[in-house]
Amino acid sequence: MLSSRVVHAYLLTGPAGTGKRTLADICARALCCQSQGERPCDICPSCKQFLSGNHPDFIRVKPEKSISVEAVREVIDRLAVKPYEADRHVVVIEQADKMTVQAQNALLKTLESPPGEDVFFLIAAQTTALLPTIVSRCRVVRFRYLETNEAEAALRARGIAEDRARLLARLSQGSVGRALELNASDEWWQLRGKVLASLAALHEKQDVGIAALPLTENKDQAGAVLDILELCARDVMALQDADGNVIQTDIEEKLNGSRFTGSKMLMNVMEARRMLASNVAWQSVLEMLFFKMVGG
Ligand SMILES: [Zn+2]
Repeated sequence: MLSSRVVHAYLLTGPAGTGKRTLADICARALCCQSQGERPCDICPSCKQFLSGNHPDFIRVKPEKSISVEAVREVIDRLAVKPYEADRHVVVIEQADKMTVQAQNALLKTLESPPGEDVFFLIAAQTTALLPTIVSRCRVVRFRYLETNEAEAALRARGIAEDRARLLARLSQGSVGRALELNASDEWWQLRGKVLASLAALHEKQDVGIAALPLTENKDQAGAVLDILELCARDVMALQDADGNVIQTDIEEKLNGSRFTGSKMLMNVMEARRMLASNVAWQSVLEMLFFKMVGG
């Protein structure tokens, strides 16, 4: 939970109809967009190509019955050629859990270190058919909490109060071990408090500096700050676009009144992660992120 890694691959998982593909498409469009302002702009040549379904650097893979090793090799071959227009290729693999085991094995190495700035979005309703090695190479974004009742019960049995147990079970996605770790981590709760305070202070462009300032001292926890922002974005998205199942049940009211658009915020956080990974100074990363979140 407190780790930060370069992200080349996202695994969007959750039931059908929760917005996984929509988000992947918005992100893909944004990653290819040529606009200097807000992305995706929907009007630049790249966005137009994307929207008409023929951007040369965008690769979409869908299963017929399954996704074969040949289909994956075809993608890998395309990635070996420099992107034509964008800075990178973007690959969306729909129903990624329909990849055969051979196909998944063929994808492993590319997923870990794709050429250049290439980014993968794997979409899967369930991850059970995916190899653990595939899942571990992706940043997993869940579109609905897992079945957390059991974890919740286990936490309550350890004397943790009902509300807190519910929240912890969701935050840890049903892992009792992680939930207990989190429960004891004052550092994490303090950090989340700070992040939420910054978000509360962020209304318009003039607020960016002030809102970012307190978090600039958390340079060593940059990854964790972005994790928390991603969590908030995911929750806001659940309330705005999906089934309303938030992870952070304790701040649901706050999230519900959020002035940010969840899907855009999630995308902005992803961009921030990329900046951080390419050694942009933490303060600049934060300010750029907040600037974009208020429509800069
Ligand atoms: Zn554009």
